[in-house]
Parts: sequence; structure tokens; C-alpha cells
Amino acid sequence: MGNVLAFCEYADGQLRTSALANLTASREIAKHHGGEVVILLVGKGAQAASAHAAKFAPKVVVVESDALEHYLAETYAPVVAAQVKATGATVVTATATSVGKDLIPRAAALLDAGQASDISKVESATTFARPILAGNAYSTVAINTPVIAVTVRQSEFEAAGESGMGSVSTADAGSVNALGATFVKLDAQKSDRPDLGDAKVVVAGGRGMKNGENFKVLEELADLLGAAMGASRAATDAGMVPADWQVGQTGKIVAPNLYFAVAISGAIQHLAGMKGSKTIVAINKNKDEPIFQVADYGLVADWEKSVPELIAEIKKLKASR
Ligand SMILES: Cc1cc2nc3c(=O)[nH]c(=O)nc-3n(C[C@H](O)[C@H](O)[C@H](O)COP(=O)(O)OP(=O)(O)OC[C@H]3O[C@@H](n4cnc5c(N)ncnc54)[C@H](O)[C@@H]3O)c2cc1C
Repeated sequence: MGNVLAFCEYADGQLRTSALANLTASREIAKHHGGEVVILLVGKGAQAASAHAAKFAPKVVVVESDALEHYLAETYAPVVAAQVKATGATVVTATATSVGKDLIPRAAALLDAGQASDISKVESATTFARPILAGNAYSTVAINTPVIAVTVRQSEFEAAGESGMGSVSTADAGSVNALGATFVKLDAQKSDRPDLGDAKVVVAGGRGMKNGENFKVLEELADLLGAAMGASRAATDAGMVPADWQVGQTGKIVAPNLYFAVAISGAIQHLAGMKGSKTIVAINKNKDEPIFQVADYGLVADWEKSVPELIAEIKKLKASR
């Protein structure tokens, strides 16, 4: 019997949507281990997110310290490892975001834990399925160490619902040692749009948009829908749009309710990042492109004509309400 320590990311006093997928997986794992889910919030602002977190698990542990203001795997991993021991956890989990993928292997090393990365299914207490080969196959991995480390693919688990009101406790960060690493600065795109990983609607463009200026029409569509912007790697590599818009195997994995793929061919590496979307709309001038095999709605058309028409129709609909 053991608990599941779920490292959860938060922003502005709320758990991130991506953390909710991990909580669904963590609840399943906890059933197999006969324990309960303990949410771990680390960093400056952790306390402010604890009331929201307590709605999703029976226990929340907050480790708040000025020394943990900026995320560094070097400083966060010892906190995670210490809390695994303190909470009697046999499994430690996080969503496979850029932070989760950076943090959990280092915590696993500190704990001598075997790791199952980017899991898509919990099969038993110790076995997990995970996509491989750009999502074309699944492997089942068994982890036989006393503590198991897991990262969870967000698009494969529903967001957890609220489960009541858990208790919140605080724990000390201990001596924070960055092992010579220093946080210098964070270069992040400032945007009023939702985070790509958390968004319910994503509008993504590909190489067929031809240049960055042309993405403005997709941004107008995104803003009408309250959507995040995404892109194929061909578009980000060409410098048309910021690199952190990239969706796919080597970009972000997203699973919004609605995904627009505009002028994107649908290479397997792109599909690996978005095929878990609930509804996929593809706009492409070539009817034979693979994107139409995963699309729920496909429009064979030039974006130059069809996207402005779509925007005009949405504006008309909004005005009539
Ligand atoms: C190891 C590895 C990892 C990779 N990781 C990723 C990843 O994470 N994400 C990713 O996206 N890719 C990734 N790729 C690249 C991937 O293989 C493709 O090259 C890339 O996704 C293609 O991007 P695209 O669809 O925008 O471009 P293209 O394949 O060139 O497609 C452009 C599309 O635009 C359409 N088009 C052109 N003009 C118009 C128009 N006027 N109106 C409408 N449609 C138009 C064309 O018909 C075409 O379908 C990876 C590749 C490798 C090898």
C-alpha cells in the first residue's frame, strides 16, 4: 500500500489544466496501490493555489520558498524526492510537460526509482502503456523498483473533476542547493491568449501559410474563438512563428476540444501532437493530404479565401446573439 505523490503545476492560484490529466492518471494508480493521491505544489505562489488544489485530492502539500521562485530541476527535484519519502508515496507523477519531463527523471534518480515516461494508460500497479514511434505503436513497460516515477501524456487522460475538499499542509524546502546552476532569465512569449497546453481551442498553421505575416489571419480567428495559436514544425523552423507554438512529436502534445489545422499536411510527427483533439477541422488545398484522414471536418480550399470567409461568418453569428 502506498500513496501517489502528484507534482502539479499551477498558475495564478489555480492548477493548470494539464495538471488535471495527471490527477486522473494518479487516481487510477492510487487505486492499484491502495493509497491516496497527495498533490505537491512547489514554488513561490504554491500556497495561493492550494485551495483550488484541495478540491481535487484528499491531501495537498505546499512547499513555498523564495529560493524556489524560479523553476530549476536542480532545486525542485530534491523537494520532490523528500516529499515522496515524507508522504509514504510509492509512485511520483507529473504531466509530461516541459517541466514534468525535466523534473521527474532527476527526482527518479534521487529516489533510485524506475521511470515510465509519457504514459497513455495505467494497466496495473506496475505496468503502463506508452506511445512509441510517433504514436504508431504502444509499448507496455513494467517498473519493478520500490518507488515508481511516471510522467503522464496529457492528451490520453480526461481532466479530473473535483472530488471534495482535501486538507492542506506545508512542508519545509530544506536547504536549497542549485548545484552551480543559476536562473538567468525566462524568455517567454507574452500573450493574452490561453496557454497552448491548456487551451480548449487551438488554431494551428503550417508551411502553406507561406510567411509569418500571413499568420495574422489565423490569429484573428484564434482571438475570435478564445483559442491558443499552434503551428507545424515546418512553420516554426522557417521562423514564421515562435518555436513554442510547435505542436507534435518534438513540440507540444495538445488535446483541445477543437483543433484547426490550416495548411498543414498532417505528417505523422505533427499528428502525434494533436490527434487526441476531440474535433479536428482541416483546411488544405490538396484533398489527398493525410490530415484529412484524422479530420472530423475537412475543407479542400485555399486558406486565403476560406479563412477570411470563416471569420466573417463567425462575426455574423456573434453579432446576431
Ligand atoms: C524527428 C522528427 C520530429 C518532428 N517533429 C515534428 C513536430 O513536433 N511537429 C511537426 O509539425 N512536425 C515535425 N516534424 C516534421 C514533419 O515531418 C513535417 O515535415 C512537418 O510537420 C510538415 O509541416 P507542414 O504540414 O506545415 O508542411 P508541409 O508538409 O509542407 O505541408 C504544407 C501544406 O500546406 C498546404 N497548402 C499550401 N498552400 C496552401 C493554401 N494556399 N491553402 C491551403 N493549404 C495550402 C499543402 O497542400 C500542404 O499540405 C518532425 C520530423 C522529424 C524527422
